[in-house]
Amino acid sequence: MDHAYLFNDRSTLYLNVTNRCTNRCEFCVRNRCSGLGGSVLRGDDEPDLDALLAAIDEHGGASAFEEIVWCGFGEPTFRLDLILAASPLFRDAGCEVRLNTNGHANLIHGQDVLPELAGVLDTVSVSLNAPNSERYLELCRPDVDMLDADIPLERFWDAMIGFLSDASRLVPRVAASVVGSTLDDDEIEACEELARSLGARVFRVR
Ligand code: SF4
Repeated sequence: MDHAYLFNDRSTLYLNVTNRCTNRCEFCVRNRCSGLGGSVLRGDDEPDLDALLAAIDEHGGASAFEEIVWCGFGEPTFRLDLILAASPLFRDAGCEVRLNTNGHANLIHGQDVLPELAGVLDTVSVSLNAPNSERYLELCRPDVDMLDADIPLERFWDAMIGFLSDASRLVPRVAASVVGSTLDDDEIEACEELARSLGARVFRVR
C-alpha cells in the first residue's frame, strides 16, 4: 500500500500507516474503494520509520509541504510510536503536523497517551460523527475485537468524547467533524453544540 499520498491540496501530504481501526463506520471510504487520489491505501504492510520517510521522500520530502497529516485507511494512533518518532522530524523540516483520528487512542493503548501526542501535534481533527452514544454506535459500529481488553461498546463513545475534550485543552487547534449525509439538520446542529461545549474551535461537516 502507499504510505504517503496527495489528495486535492498539493501543499498537504497525507500518511497512511495502518489499515487497523476500532470502528467500522457505515460511511467509511474503505467500503467503496481501495484508495484516494490515485493511491492504493488498502494493505497490511505497515511502515517502520525508514519506510515512511522513504515514502515521503518520493514526494519531495517533508520540507516540500506546509502540512503533513496522519490519516489513511485506518486509525493512525494504532501507530503511536511512529507518530511520536516522525512528527518532530516533520516539524524540524518546517511542516505543521495534523492528526485525523477517531479519538480512540486511549482505549487502544489502555492509558492516557494524549499528553505525549499533544506534544508533537499542531492540529487534531476528531471524528465526532454523532450527537449521542446511541447514534454513534449505529453509525460507527465500534469493533470490540480490535482491542486487547474486554471493553463495553458504550466506552467507545465516552473515549472519543474524552479525547476531544482533552485535546481541546492540550493541542493548539482542534476540530470536530461529522459526515453530513448520515445526519439530519437537527442532529448536525446538536453535534456542533456538543463539539463547541467540549472546546473544539472548528466544526466541520464533511
Ligand atoms: S474511524 Fe475512519 S477509518 Fe475507521 S471505519 Fe470510521 S471512517 Fe473508516
